[in-house]
Amino acid sequence: MILKIDKNQLSQIDIKCLEIAIKEAQKSFYLGSYPVGSVLLLNETEIFSAGNTAQIKNNLFFHAENSLIEKYGSKMYECFKNKQSIKLYSTLEPCLMCLGAAIMNKVNEIFFVQHDPHAGACNIDIKALGIRYSENMPIIKHVAYSDIPYKLLIEFFNSEISKGNPWGKKMLEIYEKS
Ligand SMILES: [Zn+2]
Repeated sequence: MILKIDKNQLSQIDIKCLEIAIKEAQKSFYLGSYPVGSVLLLNETEIFSAGNTAQIKNNLFFHAENSLIEKYGSKMYECFKNKQSIKLYSTLEPCLMCLGAAIMNKVNEIFFVQHDPHAGACNIDIKALGIRYSENMPIIKHVAYSDIPYKLLIEFFNSEISKGNPWGKKMLEIYEKS
């Protein structure tokens, strides 16, 4: 379930994390990857960030959120054992792979800026899954904090179209319909 929240419900640290996530998405865009950025906030103090590098590495595992969880999984596990908070911020609604990794690695809260009509998985029916998913489902918050994540995506699809990639046109249509 996705909770739609307003910008003014964000804390100062939420805003800081979202700003960093947006910068990571911009970096991914300029490096030629699908423009998504993510931030991991541990115990309200430690901040880690990553951008999507899937197209740079030719490996679709490396979504921004997944990259963070892979890199800092042991720190997350420490936080979980110490009952500290684990928050994940993303410029785009997490896909099934990243949402699954977040649930399995005990993320408490997820914030995302742009809804993903293509690969977003946050409205998944967890009752259709094993009990582990309901026990550990993070609180998922959608906040229209900025239109930069959307604009970066549209720009990325257009750049793919100009390179002759028909996938860009398909993606533009999906986003225009949503
Ligand atoms: Zn993902």
